[in-house]
Amino acid sequence: MINLVDIKPFRDEDNDSINFERRFLIPISLAGAVFSFASILTNGIINLDEVVQLTPYITFFVYLGIFLWAWNKKNVVFAKYFIILFTLTLINFLWYYNYGANGPILYLFILIYSYLIFMVKGKQLVFFTILIALNISVLFYIEYNHPGLVKDYTTHHQQIVDVYLSMLFYGLIVFIMMYIAKISYIHAYNEAKKADKLKTAFLENMSHEVRTPLNAIVGFSNLLAEDDISHEDRKEYIELINESNRSLLQLVNDILDVSLIEANQISLNNEDINISETINNLKITYKLLIQKKTSSIDIAIEIPNEEIHIIGDKTRLRQVLTNLLDNAVKFTESGLITIGVKERDNDILFFVKDTGIGIERQYHRHLFDRFYKVEDKKDVLFRGTGIGLYLSKKIIDLMGGKIWVISEPGKGSDFQFIIPKKGFRKVTLKINEHENNIKKLKRHLKILVAEDHRANQIYYAKVFKGLNIEVLIAENGIKAIKMFKENPDIDLVLMDIKMPEMDGFKAFEEIRKINHQVPIIAQTAFAMDKDREKCLGAGFNGFVAKPVTKEMLLKVLHETGII
Ligand code: ADP
Repeated sequence: MINLVDIKPFRDEDNDSINFERRFLIPISLAGAVFSFASILTNGIINLDEVVQLTPYITFFVYLGIFLWAWNKKNVVFAKYFIILFTLTLINFLWYYNYGANGPILYLFILIYSYLIFMVKGKQLVFFTILIALNISVLFYIEYNHPGLVKDYTTHHQQIVDVYLSMLFYGLIVFIMMYIAKISYIHAYNEAKKADKLKTAFLENMSHEVRTPLNAIVGFSNLLAEDDISHEDRKEYIELINESNRSLLQLVNDILDVSLIEANQISLNNEDINISETINNLKITYKLLIQKKTSSIDIAIEIPNEEIHIIGDKTRLRQVLTNLLDNAVKFTESGLITIGVKERDNDILFFVKDTGIGIERQYHRHLFDRFYKVEDKKDVLFRGTGIGLYLSKKIIDLMGGKIWVISEPGKGSDFQFIIPKKGFRKVTLKINEHENNIKKLKRHLKILVAEDHRANQIYYAKVFKGLNIEVLIAENGIKAIKMFKENPDIDLVLMDIKMPEMDGFKAFEEIRKINHQVPIIAQTAFAMDKDREKCLGAGFNGFVAKPVTKEMLLKVLHETGII
């Protein structure tokens, strides 16, 4: 059971604390560099000890270095501790040369301690507290017991200028530290308030999103139990129940995905994705879906002429496109929905464009936040939980891409995203040409399909019908071996992995003992990376995820050199 209230808060705490430390370190080190520079100029005027006059040159470069480090690097751990140790050493050094308790140096201990309170915590803070207390005690002991050791200003004016100038600098540092702390606090407070509000809204939406399909399921199930319903009504009720089941399942999947993503538990597969095929299939699915609801929306695709293939996670890519298409359908009353893909220099651009209600500019930057829904039209209720775009963005981030929107109220929205061209290739053979090729097959092919699921058996028997291919079906591993022995002219074996009596791996081994040459391809509903690796590791000639379409089969035949 998922407890919604337990879903991790939106903020990523580790990143937050790193950002806070950077935000702190950058102005502090810059202030150190600026003050050092000012000291280079003023120390000459007030004529201090030579060593004291030289020191700002060193400190200027050190603080500037820390500033540049914090500015350029994400990891500020080194700089954060280095600035503490350097400043502590500097204080001790300056205490001696800048007239001990007579000068302004001792007050630097207060500044560095304030810095520590913001930047370190727990045991480290205790350690540094003790270190600083000890340091001050030692300095006190030395100055108290050896009055002549630390020198004094040569003139009283010198002391006044030095102390007052330093106070100015200290004031500046205190202001910077407190200001950053205040801004960070206000920011964190507002974020927490926003997250809380969104979570409340989400729970309300969830309640609605769960109840609506549940009502339909309960209501129509009761109606189905009545005796006097017509065949047509029964069919319609079942369809409505199934539709509600699907939407409930989708909701559960989305919520599971949110918790998986936030726990960093989602990993991406690397498989061959035929982009053109994916987009074509989506168009077909959505065309049917839209036709059921309205005749005033049409769907079009814009894809390059060549088949584009990339290596990536097909399911997750489809999930993002489906989220965008669902929204396009939901927020468009009439007009056109276009789904497309464009090849660019370093990446592939996908887009889902609609002529729907559009989104005001002020909301664009929030759209991809968790649970966010634009709800300025209070009189119109658009169903949804505000998870779709959040999930989509997270998936695209994982893929190393970017997602954004171009939209104007009343004109429509264009959601676009890019993913890097990892393993990109173009195949000039077009889908129709595949089929023509198959039709042109001179040679009669015999394929053995090992498959235990009855619906899939029927599918395979039908899908290759009409082609010059004979399909033999074996419902388990043992039957597959038997049929293979009886038909030594089999050209290809499509082997299911999970089957009763004997699984695909064992059957593969047995067939290989009889015939070393025949290509044996694993076909399985387990389409994860590890499944593919396991199959290829076992020696299969290839791997296809179910359901195997005509085009996929043709590709297999090509790759195995059969045609
Ligand atoms: P949901 O659709 O479940 O509310 P999403 O995260 O998918 O959640 O979308 C968040 C919000 O973004 C939607 O509630 C809607 O206000 C806005 N939005 C998303 N897509 C579109 C679109 N194509 N046209 C207009 N508004 C959209």
